[in-house]
Amino acid sequence: MDYTEQVQRNLEQVKARIGEAAIRAGRKADDVKLVAVSKTFPTEAILAAWEAGQRDFGENRPEEGERKIPIVQEATGPGKMVWHMIGHIQSRKAKLVVEYFNFVHSVDRLSIARKLNQLAIEARCKIPVLLECNVSGEASKYGYDLSKWQHEAAIRQTFFTEIETLMGLPGLEPRGLMTMAPIVADPEETRPVFASLRSLGTELQARYPQVSWDQLSMGMTDDFEVAVEEGATLVRIGRAIFGSR
Ligand SMILES: *Cc1c(COP(=O)(O)O)cnc(C)c1O
Repeated sequence: MDYTEQVQRNLEQVKARIGEAAIRAGRKADDVKLVAVSKTFPTEAILAAWEAGQRDFGENRPEEGERKIPIVQEATGPGKMVWHMIGHIQSRKAKLVVEYFNFVHSVDRLSIARKLNQLAIEARCKIPVLLECNVSGEASKYGYDLSKWQHEAAIRQTFFTEIETLMGLPGLEPRGLMTMAPIVADPEETRPVFASLRSLGTELQARYPQVSWDQLSMGMTDDFEVAVEEGATLVRIGRAIFGSR
């Protein structure tokens, strides 16, 4: 089997597993969007997935997107894919994000939100964004520190204040929350992390009904089935599709 066939088979298997997990939780397979995380993989890999019908792709480095996205678009034609920025964004790379990406999962501080907002206004576009939340408390992660949000009112209040500022930025369209679970031996251990993000999303829906907080980006190769059972609407999967990095 050549690499293209392998990627296509992997995609089918991942989609089937997403569908089964959704059904186990009483959800519909179509409620979960698969974002194929192509970081570190060559454009040939992206095009193999494209041929199998995959349209949503994720990259975690703006400069890698700048290099790969034009090559892919040359082959597919422009505007056919949705590019998701899923990694931490340095301020000086924000311009590349607005230029090449359609959806940002990794807004982790107000300064980057303001920067993206300003660039979006200049580009006359509105960028759908998710707020990256560190709900596990793992020290290595980016994202708003929300590990104790359910217990400490001050932590909630700080976050709500940030959200209110963010909702006032006309170049951004807040859509929901994103998280990364810690790496653990048993994916079952990630369940409380995903459940916590979902319940934070529910809290925001009740508090700020003027915004549709309908997106939860959670779940990767090792834990996506648990994430789907806990309400993920976007799963970000790389290795299970493209092979090990
Ligand atoms: C790399 C990455 C993924 C995908 O990880 P896999 O283990 O390859 O599925 C998902 N989300 C983020 C933020 C990543 O950086």
